[in-house]
Parts: sequence; structure tokens; C-alpha cells
Amino acid sequence: MKKYIVLISCVKQKLSHSAPAGELYTSPLFRKNLDYANKLSPDKIFVLSAKHGLVPLTKKLGPYEDTLNSKKAKEIKSWAQGVLKSLRQEVDLANDRFTILAGENYRKYLLPQIRRYHIPMEGLSIGKQLKFLTDHNDGKYRDAIGSKLVNHGKNLYKLPPQKIEFTENPEANKLVNDINRLPHAYVIGCIVDQQVKAELAWSIPYHLAKKVGSFEFSSLETLSLKDIESFMADSGHRFWKNMSSYIHSGIQRIRDQYDGDARRIWNDKPTSAELVYRFLSFNGIGQKIATMAANILARDFKVKLADYYAIDVSVDRHVRNVFKRLGLVGHNAKDEQIIMRAKSIYPKYPGLMDLAAFEIGRNWCSPNTEPECEACFMNDLCMSSLTKFN
Ligand code: SF4
Repeated sequence: MKKYIVLISCVKQKLSHSAPAGELYTSPLFRKNLDYANKLSPDKIFVLSAKHGLVPLTKKLGPYEDTLNSKKAKEIKSWAQGVLKSLRQEVDLANDRFTILAGENYRKYLLPQIRRYHIPMEGLSIGKQLKFLTDHNDGKYRDAIGSKLVNHGKNLYKLPPQKIEFTENPEANKLVNDINRLPHAYVIGCIVDQQVKAELAWSIPYHLAKKVGSFEFSSLETLSLKDIESFMADSGHRFWKNMSSYIHSGIQRIRDQYDGDARRIWNDKPTSAELVYRFLSFNGIGQKIATMAANILARDFKVKLADYYAIDVSVDRHVRNVFKRLGLVGHNAKDEQIIMRAKSIYPKYPGLMDLAAFEIGRNWCSPNTEPECEACFMNDLCMSSLTKFN
């Protein structure tokens, strides 16, 4: 896996005592550079120290006066040789990517040895560098990224109702898409969509239909837990026993609370909070699936709701990765932070960003692989876009 490295040059203003390199330098330029570097979610950040060469952020250093800006070319070259030697022990100069937040003297003898680099503030005066960093660090830039993602989500929302390809089996898809005639199939698909690939989960209603011989609610409501267990044992779901119990209690809930008609869960134009609550009341359905269920109904099946405030993003591997790479959240953000970031960007309907982010992840930005930024429509704003690198 190729690494992503950020290099930041040292500055004159420092603490008066020893401290880790990440804390020692106190000038606004360094602090903003470091904040920006963290938002890029690199694998490593190093300081280019005029005195100590290549320094990890955690290495403790004492205050010093050296600066490359007062050194002769020969001394700077020799300093660069030392830095390159240290870098080669840590990274692959031919393949890893570098973002360089360092002045001309600090980078000019390094660049010929580094193949893929980006200098975001090349040619800017210190004043303009500070402005660039402030814009990127304080949320102004993040707002532009968020707006673009929301707009894409709005365009997807405006598309006519479409059949969702939950699986590669057209018959299985037909069943779980038929929310008017067999709405309980969709609910059962939601119930079992956990701990296994979505493809398998969403084929389970079809698997059951074949075993039972029908998927009419009148056939399902007569099934005992033991019947369902016997049908689910070869379904391929890792937790088929638990799922059998959830399906059985789900069928009973639809019978008792909704008179056997699962459309009543959503067809009275409920608020989004009420709809999410109704899904959460099924055994086995947690917050992520409940919001996903409500989001699919609203966005894809065009079910009318009184509002959309409570439909959050459902954080899966794609949504998580894309929010981080775009710079909407930090590298170590928890799923709760991603949900809250989406809420803060578009409180009226945070889940609108869900499919947009998922689509980016599935098409161009899969975790653990190099993103295909050339093709991604976010590449002009994305903090991690590879299109910026030479
Ligand atoms: S521009 Fe690249 S890194 Fe950014 S979201 Fe798109 S594919 Fe991912």
C-alpha cells in the first residue's frame, strides 16, 4: 500500500523548553500548517528541521536558532542529503505521495528525488499562505465540499422512483421492491441486513418465499419460530438463528401493530423521526438500519414524509472512507462524528448525502485502494484528490 506523507518546515518561533516537535513550534504559520496536514489524513507527518533534519512529530526537541534561510547553498544541499537518507528509511520516494508545506529552501533539493508531490501553497506570500490555511481549516472550504455533496444527493433524490438492485437476482429484487403488494418483504430485508453482505441479506425474503411456497402475509403469519428456523438454516446468513427469531417477531409485529399490512408503517406521511422510531421498534433493527430503511423509502421509493430531519447518513465503509478523504471529518473520526457532520452540513435531510458518498466510494474511492480521482466529480474540492499531484 502506497503511503501519503506531509512535510512541514520548521519555524523560528518556538517554546522556550523541550517539547515534542508537534508542540515545539508556535508560530501561526506552523500551527495552521499542522492543522491542515492533519485534515489531509496522511499516513505520516514529519517536520523538516533546519537543525535536526527529518523529525517525527512525537520526537522531543529543545529550542534552537538554526534556519535554512541563512545557510549557504552547499550547506542546504548537505542538509537535504541527510533528510533524503532518513526519508528513504521510512518511505518509498518513487511511489509514495507527498504534500509539501515548506518553503523553497527546504524543498528545492528534495523535489528532484520525489516523484509524486503537491505543493498547495507554491508561490504564495506568507500572508496568502495564512489565508489559504485559514480558509481550509476553519470550515469555509468544508462547507463548499458539503454543498457539492448535498447538491449531488438532491439530484439523485429527484430521479424518478427506481427499482433498487439489492442483489444480482432479478426475482429477489422484484420481491423486496414490491412495497405496495408485498411491503413486508422490504421490512424483512431490512431486519436481516446485518452482519452479512447486503447482497445475501436482501435475497433472504426470496429464499423464504421459495421455501414457504408463497410470500403473501397470510402464509407468513401462520409460521412458527421453528418453521422459520428450518427455512433459514440453509439461507447462508451467519446468524440465521437470531435472524429467524427477529423475522418471527417482525411478522407478529406487522400483524398486531399494522393489521398485517406493512405499508401502514410509512403510508400515513409520518415525520422522519416517527418513521425511524417505527423501524427501531422491530427486534434486530438498530439505528443504522432504521435510518437506511427510512432513507430508501423516502429517496428511492418516493414515500412522502412530513419532514426529513431524522434521516441520518448510514455509515458504512464507503461513506466513512469518503467523508474522511474529502476532509469533511478527521482521519480518526468515529461514526457518530460522521453522522453529526452530515447533520451540521444539511440538517433538513442529512441522509441526502448518504447515496452520494456511497456512490463515490463504490465507483472511485474504495477504502484500501488508490482512489481514481480523475473520474470523481469531487476532485476539484477534495482534500485528498490525487489530481493535485504531479
Ligand atoms: S477526489 Fe479522489 S480521494 Fe477525493 S473523494 Fe474523489 S476519488 Fe476519493
